[in-house]
Parts: sequence; C-alpha cells; structure tokens
Amino acid sequence: MAELTWEIFHRQVETCAMCPLHEGIRHKVPGQGDPAAPLMFIGEGPGQVEDEEGLAFVGPAGQLLTRMLAAISLPRDRVYICNIVKCRPPNNRVPEEAEANACKLHLRNQVALVRPKVIVLLGSTAAKNTIGPEVRITRDRGRWFNSKGTWMLPTYHPSALLRDPDKKREAWEDMQTLRDKLIELGLYKDIFGGTE
Ligand code: SF4
Repeated sequence: MAELTWEIFHRQVETCAMCPLHEGIRHKVPGQGDPAAPLMFIGEGPGQVEDEEGLAFVGPAGQLLTRMLAAISLPRDRVYICNIVKCRPPNNRVPEEAEANACKLHLRNQVALVRPKVIVLLGSTAAKNTIGPEVRITRDRGRWFNSKGTWMLPTYHPSALLRDPDKKREAWEDMQTLRDKLIELGLYKDIFGGTE
C-alpha cells in the first residue's frame, strides 16, 4: 500500500463519494493550516461560507475562533483546523452517524499526517466522534481526555457561542485551560511565540 501523503489525502477527499453529503456541495472542505501543527482543532462540518470557499472556519464562527486564538496569543496559521465531515450538510444540519463514520477515514488520515499533541474538539459532534458517544459537551467541556498520548479538550463550537453569548465565559475558561496545557507541555513559547 502506498505511503500516506498530503497529496494522497487531498485527492481522496476530492474524489470521495462515500456518503450522500457530497451531492449538491460547491466545494469539499478538507481543512487547512500548519501541516505539522502540534495543536489541531476539529469542528462539525462546513457551513455556507466554507462550502463557497472550500476552506474550514472562514465564516462568522471561524472569525470568532480566530479571535479566541488571538486572545491567548496563538496565531491561527500555526494550528491545523478541520471538521468531522468534509462536505456541507444540507441547511447546516448535524451530520448523521453514518456520514460522520464514513468521513472518519479522512479524519484519521489527517491526524496521522499532522500528528498533533493536543486536539481541541469544537462542539458535541466533534467530541462524540472522537472521544466517544458518552461525552456531554455541557458536562465535559474544559476537561482533558488522553488517547494514546494525545491530549483532547472538548469545548463549545463557536457557532454555539454566537447563538448564546452567555457561554462565552466558559469558552474563555477553556482557552485558559488550553493555554496552561500548552505551557505545561513546553509548546506555548517554543512553537507559538507566546510570551510565557
Ligand atoms: S462527507 Fe466525507 S465521507 Fe461524505 S462524501 Fe464528503 S468527504 Fe466523503
């Protein structure tokens, strides 16, 4: 079997028809960012702006994510950002279990290529499809999980923060938790150019 490369990954996503979500989309949205980032963000799926541009987290929720990263001095171009599904679900509905499961092949390949040390899971769909179906975002956000040496932190999806600004305080606490872990792991100063 051929060794997995970014070129193979992108070709596989571009030609993928493993679930019905590819029908009617404008662009696949594989994800983007630093291909060797120690910090990865995983959301749910592309929205309208992402579908139009073929890029993850570039709409209003993505702009809020950029501001959240800036608040802890993390430049967005030093992280890798993607979603559970690479095709926009109709009307931004939650991806069905079969769709998320089909797309996990691509996500697994992405994680294998990036090899992040820390993964932030944005929202319930991302958390349930990575940590496990038992995760409850309101209960488990801000808690660290570890899988085979990779640290995973569930938090709210930025879209949820746009809908309910009262959640922003907890999201801010989660960003502090993330920052503390990056410092603890020696990643904050060396890799992101932070001040500590
Ligand atoms: S959502 Fe994922 S599995 Fe489904 S068609 Fe798109 S790339 Fe393939």
